[in-house]
Amino acid sequence: MKKIAAFNWKLKPTNIKEAQATLRAHKKYAKAHPDVQVVSAPPMPFVHKLISDVSPVGLCAQDVSTKFDGAHTGQSSAAMLREVGCSYVIVGHSERRAEFGETDTMVSKKAQIALEQGLTPIICFGEDDRDAQGRYVDLLTEQLKGSLELISDKNSSKIVLAYEPIWAIGTGASITTDDLFSTLILIKKILVDIYGERRANKVQILYGGSVKDHNADELAAVPGVSGFLVGGASHKPEMVKAIIASLA
Ligand code: PEP
Repeated sequence: MKKIAAFNWKLKPTNIKEAQATLRAHKKYAKAHPDVQVVSAPPMPFVHKLISDVSPVGLCAQDVSTKFDGAHTGQSSAAMLREVGCSYVIVGHSERRAEFGETDTMVSKKAQIALEQGLTPIICFGEDDRDAQGRYVDLLTEQLKGSLELISDKNSSKIVLAYEPIWAIGTGASITTDDLFSTLILIKKILVDIYGERRANKVQILYGGSVKDHNADELAAVPGVSGFLVGGASHKPEMVKAIIASLA
């Protein structure tokens, strides 16, 4: 399985020219490293302009509705995302959980509806704090189990997980390699509980949280890391280059 470098553009940039430049960098380094699957998640209004020239990058949406159609103002359905050329969608990003009150149940529904439409959901989860008492372990377990509730055994090989400790997102405070390794073991154990060992071993787990050029190599070398979900560095070509190269 190819490792994945997924770039979440968030609410940037403000114009199509810069959006084209960002995608150009993703494509350039994706072509230089065909053994890495590069995934790019622009703001929805730019998708239509970018789709004609996206290969070999996989186009990704930053969110999806839990609904198929109907009276749900401001949303995009999984079928619509597929129709405009998306093959991935991020669900349960911590910013959506915090700003829009998305629950594990909603996240699970979003992942399920994405799978029904042939999209690969990148399911995000992560603790907001790493307390000394280890309560974050219970929180991670609960969050992951809740977010996977509607994902069947059969579909478990079609999802991608993104472990993103909230305290590391956009802060420059990346996780240590030891802590990442032990957390990946915990995640794997939870997956074994849910899906059994054979299926659990097939689930790709990305790390997200201040991945930059200076720490990508050491984080990529942690056993169990299947790739990265990157926010801020997505718009910086030199960082994009180093991050993709670290996974090659
Ligand atoms: C993210 O938004 O998912 C993220 C990981 O952001 P950053 O890389 O900026 O920490």
